[in-house]
Amino acid sequence: MRKKVIAGNWKMNKDLVETVELINGLKSVVADPKPGVSVVVCPPFTSLAVAANLLKDSVFKLGAQNMSEHDEGAYTGEVSWKMLKSVGCEYVVLGHSERRQYFSETNELINQKAKKAVANGLIPILCVGETLEEREKGITEQVISAQIRGVLSGLLSSDMERVIMAYEPVWAIGTGRNATPVQAQQVHQHIRKLVAQLYSWSLAEGLVIQYGGSVKPDNASDLLAQNDIDGALVGGACLKPDSFAQIIGSVR
Ligand code: PEP
Repeated sequence: MRKKVIAGNWKMNKDLVETVELINGLKSVVADPKPGVSVVVCPPFTSLAVAANLLKDSVFKLGAQNMSEHDEGAYTGEVSWKMLKSVGCEYVVLGHSERRQYFSETNELINQKAKKAVANGLIPILCVGETLEEREKGITEQVISAQIRGVLSGLLSSDMERVIMAYEPVWAIGTGRNATPVQAQQVHQHIRKLVAQLYSWSLAEGLVIQYGGSVKPDNASDLLAQNDIDGALVGGACLKPDSFAQIIGSVR
């Protein structure tokens, strides 16, 4: 059985005071997840150290929302893998569609970041997803395949044991319009088949593929019941402790 990973992407929300409130709220309502389920919170950089301190000895793991492809040096405004590890991050979200759209991140750059993350002991959550236009043109699978080939280029099988993929249709992110379980399952199955072609079936069978895009308490259990959906990357609904707790509790 594959493990399941539920991750909350806070995006650019919550200052320090609000971070303390949200973490304390999460700790008070999120019961111990079922065996085989990991829960990750990804606050903004400025909240990571405080969150790490509050989450010590809790069920929550810590992740960041982005990372530099460089180790250190004259890269104003950037944050390195070493900095993330030093504050207790185990995960890092890479290639979120908002990074691709607003910060011009390419598959090539995301691939460099992914290599840097795995080489240094961070688990990358690698995001892929098609736009509405691409879905309507019927080219979803081609788009996803190109993104996957790009972001995984040069990663070895041994690296892939530390990689999580997230399918996040761009048209479903923050819109309140989720992919149906059937639509999501089709793409997840496609991703798993492609990873099997690129690596092996046994590796693909073990790969955690999260779904993201307007996951909420009322749609989480149907999405998470699909064979190839192994967790969720949650935006808006992770900012409310009760909603996030319900989503975590939806894993069967
Ligand atoms: C996300 O930020 O990755 C996301 C899926 O957001 P939302 O759940 O708000 O659609």
